Amino acid sequence: MKNYNYLIIYSLFILFSTTIGIQAHHNCFFSTEKALISDVDTFPKDYFRSPLGIPLVLAGTFGELRSNHFHSGIDIKTQGKSGLNIYGVADGWVSRIRSSPGGYGKALYITHPNGYTTVYGHLSEFSDTIGEYLKKFQYEYESFEIDIELEPNTIKIKKGEIVAKSGNSGGSSAPHLHYEIRDTKTEHALNPLLFGIKVKDTRKPVVEEVAIYGLGEKEYIMSTRHKYKCQLKGKVHKLAEDTLKFNAKNIGVSLKTYDRQDAASNKNGVYTIEMKVDSVLTYEFKMKSFSFFETRYLNAHVDYKERINNKSWYNKCFIEPANKLNNYPNIKGKGIIDLSDKQTHLIELKSTDVAGNISEVKFWVKQDNTGKSFGNPPNCTQMLYHDLPQEFTNDDNSIIIKFPENGFYNDVFFQYEKQPNKNKYGATHVVHEPNTAVHKAFKLSIKSENIPELLLPKAVIVQDTKKGVKALVTKEVVGQYIKSASREFGTFYIDVDSIAPTIKPLYDYNNKNLKKYGRLRFKIEDELSGINTYKGYIDNKWVLVEYDAKNNLLIHYFEKDLKAGKHEFELKVSDHVNNEKIYKFTFTR
Ligand SMILES: [Zn+2]
Repeated sequence: MKNYNYLIIYSLFILFSTTIGIQAHHNCFFSTEKALISDVDTFPKDYFRSPLGIPLVLAGTFGELRSNHFHSGIDIKTQGKSGLNIYGVADGWVSRIRSSPGGYGKALYITHPNGYTTVYGHLSEFSDTIGEYLKKFQYEYESFEIDIELEPNTIKIKKGEIVAKSGNSGGSSAPHLHYEIRDTKTEHALNPLLFGIKVKDTRKPVVEEVAIYGLGEKEYIMSTRHKYKCQLKGKVHKLAEDTLKFNAKNIGVSLKTYDRQDAASNKNGVYTIEMKVDSVLTYEFKMKSFSFFETRYLNAHVDYKERINNKSWYNKCFIEPANKLNNYPNIKGKGIIDLSDKQTHLIELKSTDVAGNISEVKFWVKQDNTGKSFGNPPNCTQMLYHDLPQEFTNDDNSIIIKFPENGFYNDVFFQYEKQPNKNKYGATHVVHEPNTAVHKAFKLSIKSENIPELLLPKAVIVQDTKKGVKALVTKEVVGQYIKSASREFGTFYIDVDSIAPTIKPLYDYNNKNLKKYGRLRFKIEDELSGINTYKGYIDNKWVLVEYDAKNNLLIHYFEKDLKAGKHEFELKVSDHVNNEKIYKFTFTR
């Protein structure tokens, strides 16, 4: 270990997936006005070449709204296939190589002497030099999942050199290149479209809907929001009514907006959103760069309830009390609109893309007792203050929850209900609503019933949210209590996972001559606790088995040095509560 640092990270760093769908939608185009984007000039415009040798068509833009994070790069379409050449965009050296079953999949980081690092994700393979370097570590640590940091100039890269092939590895749903530019020192993600990359875009962002919120005491968002479709009238978009009347002193606004480039129908993210109240800029959201430490504040930036209930993405144009995202260069009064003077106020919203196309929305608001109301705060079991550590215990101590400081973006009118048992292992606990955002994980301790002591290590907490059912990884078993943590509200109950994963070969390899095969493939699945470890052996020696989590596939590519003759292959797969399945067969080659 002389010339390199190394570390192995077991997944879960950033869970992200990409949607590359074709969605038909109405659009509004008219003459192009150019936005004044002055500060982008700080990035070099002709230093980096394109990472691909094809015209760039984007399936995703920088800062785009994704599940629990802002998209940290651009997604470049690769003509629907894997295997396109990926070029080093400038001279530099390989600073990090990763391989993982989800997230970025196979990913490469190149650090350049000008202070930037470029990142290439979802690759199918690396160049020979990089691939062999990675494999050495995989065999040394007997792990497919590797995250290696390299010392400068261990592997040098020339501008235009082929460094990898494009692919669909990790949490990618269609072949594409995830391309990032980072500030090497701060590791902040920067918008690659501000580095002179050419992507044709003459289309204006789509502004679809405006939502209005009533803001109560301590900026609590009242339960009802009112939504209005944007309609293009002349050069700007208007709402169905010119003047919206509300029975509220303080309101907030959100905008459902997205952008499309010329060559694809993907709904991509916008660059900036602005709001002016009576011609004064009170809110600006800008996606020039962001910090990975802040990316989860996406859940504070968007209308989380709309996202969970209706899969809609509204950008809130007001700042929740504990939203610490640094992507709001201009904010006055947190973007909250004060209507207490009962006068009519002009609201102007603007959505822009990096190419400088602008869409605008214009309407008026006023407080009026005959106007729309926003409902009342709900009844609650206990108030949870966003800035304090707090604990909740139910009447019979069958659930204990510890909430950390700064765990929420706003105070929570917390509701709890105990429901009849779903199974014989304990009660069902309805812990608030999945449509309330949680910033930091809370600790859960749930009492089990009727589990024989021997089976206690196989117990898991099952979480049921609007997104589906999943088992939380058990952190500890203390007496009858199963302990875990969650970052989402939902319904929780205990279940037992005593069933090992299943392993199914895609072909009957047993006793066969596999000379014509380049690889072995197996479908692996596990109910409840999920796949944890997977190890392959040939003649009792560890061999590399790649895990493609989204397709539940394990793949072994035969090594060149495998001697001709008869061999034994063994696969061991275990779940998170240590149920293990072993699958063995012999083959010749
Ligand atoms: Zn991406």
